[in-house]
Amino acid sequence: MAINIRNDKNYRSEATCTYCGGSHTITGCQEILDDAETGKKKRFASRTFKEHYAMQWVEKKAKTKKKRSKAKRKCGYCKGEGHTRRDCKVMQKDREFLIRANQVWRKLYADKSKEFGYAPASLVKYNNSQYNYNTGQYESTSQMLLVGSELPSNLTVFILSKEYNMRQEINIPLVGLSNPVTLREFVKGSTVQDKLTGNSYSWGDKNIEVIKPSEYVFTDEWINAECDDINFVLKKWDRDRLNDCVFRQIRDHIGHLM
Ligand SMILES: [Zn+2]
Ligand SMILES: [Zn+2]
Repeated sequence: MAINIRNDKNYRSEATCTYCGGSHTITGCQEILDDAETGKKKRFASRTFKEHYAMQWVEKKAKTKKKRSKAKRKCGYCKGEGHTRRDCKVMQKDREFLIRANQVWRKLYADKSKEFGYAPASLVKYNNSQYNYNTGQYESTSQMLLVGSELPSNLTVFILSKEYNMRQEINIPLVGLSNPVTLREFVKGSTVQDKLTGNSYSWGDKNIEVIKPSEYVFTDEWINAECDDINFVLKKWDRDRLNDCVFRQIRDHIGHLM
């Protein structure tokens, strides 16, 4: 599991080089540099088209680099001057905040998992209503189901985000049910609902009853594990956006636990 933007099929996690087709961007391409070097050693007339192109690209890049280094450096993350994202102290602090928030959220997730029946190997009763095509009516069904044993590896506090791309959906697998059920279904109407799943609206009654709580024990290793969504998010968005879409929600919902 990961935040939505990383799961979406149209999101390309692998770069493609427009020069050689390799899995890197053109700025990181070795082939274009090599071709430019080769071209330089040849006389104009005997250069290949590719070598011409490579030489022009390298020359152009050198010019823009010169221009850019004269301009004042500005941080893409906090918009401060004199440093970049790479050595941004504000970002370092925010990373620590997110790591801490994730640990606190996971601890809460673990602590509530038995009571609400989403811990691996819990036995629950799932009440659902299905449309019957023969009678033309909704009929309520009730099934006893076991929560799947696999623990999602990248569960994160980003479930609290208000923005779709940044948010993570958490689905609990139920053995024998083709569609997993959201975490929200398990905690609906309880006092931990917003702390665990954020503010999104949910309708209908709670459909899950715990029949036999699980004996599963969440390890401290899992609770405190690093998650790569944090680094991804810090690279992708800037501070204003994160503040608006996730820091505020974290402070509102679990800030008192941090
Ligand atoms: Zn390349
Ligand atoms: Zn900065």
